[in-house]
Amino acid sequence: MDKIGMTTPIVEMDGDETARLMWGLVREELVRPFVDLKTEYYDLSLTARKETEDAVTMDAARAVKRLGVGVKCATITPNAQRKAEYDLPRLYPSPNGTLRSALDGTIFRSPILLPGATPLVPTWTRPITVARHGYGDVYKGVEVSARGGETVRLTGAGEDKTVFAFQGPGVALAMHNTDASIFSFARSSFACALDRKQDLWFSCKDTISQTYDGRFRDVFQKVYDEEYKAAFEAAGIRYLYTLIDDAVARCMRSNGGFVWALKNYDGDVMSDMIGAAFGALALMTSVLISPDGRFVYEAAHGTVTRHWRRRQAGERTSTDPMAILFAWSGALRKRGELDGLPALSAFAQKLEDAAMDTVRDGVVTGDIAALLGRGQVADTEDFVAAIRRRLG
Ligand code: NAP
Ligand code: MG
Repeated sequence: MDKIGMTTPIVEMDGDETARLMWGLVREELVRPFVDLKTEYYDLSLTARKETEDAVTMDAARAVKRLGVGVKCATITPNAQRKAEYDLPRLYPSPNGTLRSALDGTIFRSPILLPGATPLVPTWTRPITVARHGYGDVYKGVEVSARGGETVRLTGAGEDKTVFAFQGPGVALAMHNTDASIFSFARSSFACALDRKQDLWFSCKDTISQTYDGRFRDVFQKVYDEEYKAAFEAAGIRYLYTLIDDAVARCMRSNGGFVWALKNYDGDVMSDMIGAAFGALALMTSVLISPDGRFVYEAAHGTVTRHWRRRQAGERTSTDPMAILFAWSGALRKRGELDGLPALSAFAQKLEDAAMDTVRDGVVTGDIAALLGRGQVADTEDFVAAIRRRLG
């Protein structure tokens, strides 16, 4: 069989532990036999980050800027315990954080809907993608614990405002955001919706927070009107701004199938709710999209350390490679679209279909069996082999 050709390489970012093991399996068993794979490879494992003093992470980010499409394996974010385990000179920052700031991007999370799985909200027959603004608000807030008889003030831009004149003890919070960050968030959100040919929702509370949330509303509207309206109309999709409480009610009554952009705190909360409603953590995919249309595909889960410890003890685990498979298929499909290689995009679809067929035929990993309440549990290697047989 002739392998499918590629022209531009994908930026491949390898990672750690069980995720790295599944990464190699998916690439070698499910992609390379069928595609004449071109990647620019960056090893972001903690060992390699240590060897390069973390320079490899910035190199990978620059490669994504240059080539446009990346695929990333989960990586360890070091903490004190990892610092000792890997004998690190310092705590390197999270590679995902480095990539996100280098690309000025937003992360979009979507569930993989398995055949036979019903979300906890049964009318959600299509995935809901949540985008959380990754900057500012309460996460960069400044807080004070006020004493009674004190007035807390907020000054700036030539204004001096009373927050509250405290009679007794209480608390106050000031938070900020920047137009630059909001514009980037809006552009990434419109780019994501257009990429998926799905409606974009943005919701906040501009009736109450007229200046702060009002700025978000105005920026989204401006980016839509000036940069995306024509493309949205041509694609037959729409942009909806609505109040956050209305959006929550509409979401519950919807059939899914939209991209929902949310401010930092709202996105933090809603992404966990939507994720839980669709099922397992291992079935959540994520893509980092920059305002100028660079894409990094990833599984939302981590390196699955607990399973790695069992692997190190010689045990085989039934760890789920589905989200990693979808990260690869997402990157291959995008590369196919950008380079005008329909055969590559078609293979990406075939790969996802083969995984779905495997589940439909009842061969599953442990987490999927728990979710569906049925299936013959295979270990990761056998599950991947079963997918490969269905790829022909
Ligand atoms: P995790 O790797 O996502 O795993 C948490 C638990 O979720 C696992 O123990 C397992 O539960 C279940 N799980 C996750 N993925 C699974 C899969 N593919 N198949 C089956 N079960 C799966 O989170 P963590 O244990 O908190 O973090 C481990 C390491 O990953 C940390 O060093 C962290 O820094 C890193 N991390 C990286 C990223 C990233 O690079 N994007 C994201 C998150 C965390 P059971 O043990 O109950 O089976
Ligand atoms: Mg959260």
